[in-house]
Amino acid sequence: MSGNGSSNAYIDDSATFESLQLDSRLLQAIKYHGFEKPTLIQSSAIPLALEQKRDVIAKAATGSGKTLAYLIPVVQTILQYKQANDESTGPKTLGIILVPTRELAQQVQSVLSQLVLYCSKDVHSLNLSSQLADNVLSSLLLDGPEVLIATPSKLLNVLETKSNSLSMEDLKFLVVDEVDLVLTFGYQEDLNQIAGYLPLKKNLQTFLMSATLNEDVQDLKTRFCRSPAILKLNEEEI
Ligand code: ADP
Ligand code: MG
Repeated sequence: MSGNGSSNAYIDDSATFESLQLDSRLLQAIKYHGFEKPTLIQSSAIPLALEQKRDVIAKAATGSGKTLAYLIPVVQTILQYKQANDESTGPKTLGIILVPTRELAQQVQSVLSQLVLYCSKDVHSLNLSSQLADNVLSSLLLDGPEVLIATPSKLLNVLETKSNSLSMEDLKFLVVDEVDLVLTFGYQEDLNQIAGYLPLKKNLQTFLMSATLNEDVQDLKTRFCRSPAILKLNEEEI
């Protein structure tokens, strides 16, 4: 996020963040960082995710605001979960965000940390792909970060570690960002294996985000999604 947020060319002038019924701490952070109105992908995807509880496959141009389009529903859902469940339930992973590169993992975590400015006690994230030593990673996982950000290979690596302290039973959101690149980079098999660890098609919502979508996404759609809403936004439609 950045202070010049309102200059985005993809803004949906007919929508407001206030109408999305977000936790006030979330709304406050959005405003603090200078985002006045949602972009079209945000005003489309957020109600589908939060009100209709739909899975979403979204194709929208680079720069159209896809990061907040999935991070806002992820954080809102975690805050609601925290209000409904007391701490005695123990640490649980509630959101997973998969990305094609370590650089993108870093960027997503930094947008997330800005979004949770006023609720950082309730939403902790861990970037599994930040090249931490194994013992450091294990101890950070013991703290029970609600959101994990990783490349598919790194997440699989952690899931396969027998001693890991992860609990996926209450996972609410799985996001695959830049899904076209994730597939181009050859992560399909890792994703297939990851699927075996997740409570797919129960209460888990899936977001597949991309600037371009190709045939290979079909397979992921079948494996990961329940009748997803398909959003295809491009510049001509704005
Ligand atoms: P994408 O993932 O679709 O390429 P990003 O999520 O990286 O797009 O966002 C692109 C830029 O738009 C970023 O600089 C981000 O801070 C800005 N941005 C996102 N949402 C808004 C908004 N609602 N209003 C103004 N700027 C925004
Ligand atoms: Mg992006």
